[in-house]
Amino acid sequence: MTEKPSTIETLSDRLANVRSRIEAAARRCDRSPEEITLVAISKTHPPEMLQAALAAGITDLGENRVQEAEGKIIEVGRKAARWHLVGHLQANKARRAVSLFDVIHSLDSAGLARRLDRLCASEGREELPVLIQVDLGGEETKTGIDPRKLPELLNALSECERVRLTGLMTLPPYFENADCARPYFKTLRELRDDLRQQGRFGERIGELSMGMTHDFEIAIEEGATIVRVGTAIFGARNQLI
Ligand SMILES: *Cc1c(COP(=O)(O)O)cnc(C)c1O
Repeated sequence: MTEKPSTIETLSDRLANVRSRIEAAARRCDRSPEEITLVAISKTHPPEMLQAALAAGITDLGENRVQEAEGKIIEVGRKAARWHLVGHLQANKARRAVSLFDVIHSLDSAGLARRLDRLCASEGREELPVLIQVDLGGEETKTGIDPRKLPELLNALSECERVRLTGLMTLPPYFENADCARPYFKTLRELRDDLRQQGRFGERIGELSMGMTHDFEIAIEEGATIVRVGTAIFGARNQLI
């Protein structure tokens, strides 16, 4: 009798499937798959699963809670992956976040931008790439910044010395039919294009972090440069987060 497939094989099969779907979606809209970064969202999963993902070729891991991520990052290795914070960041966790994460996707206020900038200075961190999380769902999602408050945040960012705006992130409301998320992705892309024209990203392209297990192909068709995929790589989470 042959052995049951190990976790690593199962995970690498799922990952291969996700990669081929990313590739197919990119080709459908004449984009190169290389311009899309896959961030594996590992929240709720134990460090061994993260290690399995790295062994299978993942380079970027995402977590949504500083507290949960901390132990895992220490165990897996701060330098073993590029670590992305994709969940809301509370002010009292900002210092830990500055030392634990390479990229923060959830910047949502001018106050947080200023705080992160001060913390970078005191932690000796030269540069912190951040994405602004924009709330395009209004009532339905309540995560990220209200687009009307963007000018204030952009002002604060222009005064930051170490916090660098590298792009925008959004988390649309959940729709049974993933195609219904398309207008949100399109709106985020248009907003990115505006900010790019204003020179808000400097020399950088202006990343679009959008698309999850349920809708990453649609997000890619609408211009995503970063997709955040958890379930399709790690399997279902048995905790609701
Ligand atoms: C959990 C999470 C994801 C991944 O969700 P899946 O549906 O499991 O792919 C992506 N982005 C954020 C902000 C998340 O919290």
